[in-house]
Amino acid sequence: RASALTGNSLTELLVMARGGGAVDLAVGTPGYPEISAGLIAEASGAMLAGHNQYEHPAGEALLRERIADMLGDGADPVTEITVTTGATEALHVALLATVDPGDEVVLLSPGYEQITAAVNLAGARPRFVPLHAPDWRFQPEDLAAAFNDRTRAIVLNTPGNPTGRVLSRRELEEIADLCERWDVVVICDEVYRDFTFDGRRHVSVTEVPGLADRSVVVGSLSKSHAVSGWRLGFLRADRERTVALRRVHELTTNGTAAPLQVAAGRAALTSGLPVVTREMNRKRDVAQEIFSAVGMEFSPVEGGCFLFADISRLTEGRQECGAFVRELLDRSGVLIVPGSSFFSDPRQGAQYVRIAFNRKIETLREAQRRMGGV
Ligand code: PMP
Ligand code: GLN
Repeated sequence: RASALTGNSLTELLVMARGGGAVDLAVGTPGYPEISAGLIAEASGAMLAGHNQYEHPAGEALLRERIADMLGDGADPVTEITVTTGATEALHVALLATVDPGDEVVLLSPGYEQITAAVNLAGARPRFVPLHAPDWRFQPEDLAAAFNDRTRAIVLNTPGNPTGRVLSRRELEEIADLCERWDVVVICDEVYRDFTFDGRRHVSVTEVPGLADRSVVVGSLSKSHAVSGWRLGFLRADRERTVALRRVHELTTNGTAAPLQVAAGRAALTSGLPVVTREMNRKRDVAQEIFSAVGMEFSPVEGGCFLFADISRLTEGRQECGAFVRELLDRSGVLIVPGSSFFSDPRQGAQYVRIAFNRKIETLREAQRRMGGV
């Protein structure tokens, strides 16, 4: 089973980024804000106060309440929220608790590579629906053709990594029609829910009739609270589904780090977000300006923290993204991610790269300077 899995290409990039002084615009680890002093004080305070043993496996009670407040969709923290070891665990748990080996799972391509890995690890078969450049939308007929009586789940990610798309209510309604028709569960990765641009609003699957009562929402504090190393994620699902999710979660991790849950619960989870969101809109603007000036092409990013750009004007089709990324690193000391690993067929991604812009503006400007911009 393990040998059939492809490695996580982002892990290698993370290692490359840490050595060698490159400006790292690769992995989506927040380069801002500095994690709040309040959170750090709460974490050490929680350890000193003795929160060093197992917590309730479903998650520390106050943190579950805060997550329910943050979601604002009426979720019951006692029976409908489960704290996980990052969204990464949440995705695996959601799939393991939903699908059986041989079931089919609908995925959109390009998409976040760990989602495909989680489907494969659960023994299910991905059925990919292509998203079309430049604005990464699906054709309704392609979506409809992916569903059949073996389909058990669809996994969505909005705002999207790597595409920067925010699924519209209309698109979610089209998906809802098919999920109802084929009785399919929707697992929606909403880790970037706080980052939408140009006044656009994130629509959660929990707001869409036909999806709400068949949904499992995957969330995380990694990006919104700049604590990706704390490994705090969560699952939100109805009571019945939550019973199944918790069975798998308890057997795999028995809960995540107790003092960090206490700390995140005590610090107001929602504080500071509007500023971060405004800053992100500005960072997106700066990243779009810098990378279109060097000749990359893309549709405006609607949400999330990644720019997914076409490099074919720069390469004239003569260089693939992997070689382009290595050359940019060697020549300019700027690290970005080849696009190929996000596609069901890597060849389709040969002319795309992903750039993380959740960095300080100075970091983005330094990348511009190194690439020969002003
Ligand atoms: N889902 C998506 C779409 C992501 O981009 C990431 C990485 N930030 C994750 C899940 C994993 O997040 P976490 O750090 O909470 O495991
Ligand atoms: N979600 C992060 C990204 O897409 C990767 C996290 C990881 O693989 N370490 O950049």
